[in-house]
Amino acid sequence: MTIDQLQKEVEIANIQIIELELHTNVVSPESTLSDMITFENASEEEVNQRKLKRIYMRKRKILYFIERLKSNISLACNECGGEIDLERLLIMPKAGLCGTCAKNH
Ligand SMILES: [Zn+2]
Repeated sequence: MTIDQLQKEVEIANIQIIELELHTNVVSPESTLSDMITFENASEEEVNQRKLKRIYMRKRKILYFIERLKSNISLACNECGGEIDLERLLIMPKAGLCGTCAKNH
């Protein structure tokens, strides 16, 4: 995985964030749950909020991977040195093993 590839992932996340924010009333941290359910389309709001949170997390993790690569810290598998799938890294950022090696453990 290269920094370029990861930066493309960040761009995709940014676009998704912009799109979701257009359809979501961003809830300020001090607003209570009762404020949230007064929205007419509360369920859709909640779904969008959850999606947004997930993408923010994804973006933060990818930025962390970019920082690691820039500091010459490998994201490769500790066992075989092979590339760890990005989706796997996102689920387990500190996994350290590729899917194949993890299975053999
Ligand atoms: Zn491996």
